[in-house]
Amino acid sequence: MDCIFCKIISGEIPSKKAYEDDKIVAFYDIAPQAPVHIVIIPKEHIESMNGITTENSSVVSHIFEVIPKIAAENNLGDGYRVVSNCGANGGQTVFHLHFHLLGGKALDTTMA
Ligand code: 5GP
Ligand code: ZN
Repeated sequence: MDCIFCKIISGEIPSKKAYEDDKIVAFYDIAPQAPVHIVIIPKEHIESMNGITTENSSVVSHIFEVIPKIAAENNLGDGYRVVSNCGANGGQTVFHLHFHLLGGKALDTTMA
């Protein structure tokens, strides 16, 4: 499968990791849109939010349990935003489920 994020998980594509455990990886975005921009992904290939099922959804709650730790380690005590783009109109460009963790400044208040 030709998936950039699966290649980041395997190490075939290098990345700067912010966090890793047996279920998920977090790495710094190659084209940051905020002073801190980290992408958090499940190791299991799930295409998008539309691919979340009863069987695989525990990794999503795990991601959200870990996000506050990654945020704290990156000095986001003043707050942050988590975004998941889904599908073409949602702006998704990599079709492996991921959550953007953005912060490091007061973010724009517009979301669309
Ligand atoms: P999307 O647009 O699908 O929501 O987000 C994909 C994100 O992955 C983009 O913010 C893009 O900059 C990031 N990205 C794409 N390819 C790479 C890569 O090879 N390395 C890293 N670190 N980030 C990437
Ligand atoms: Zn993948």
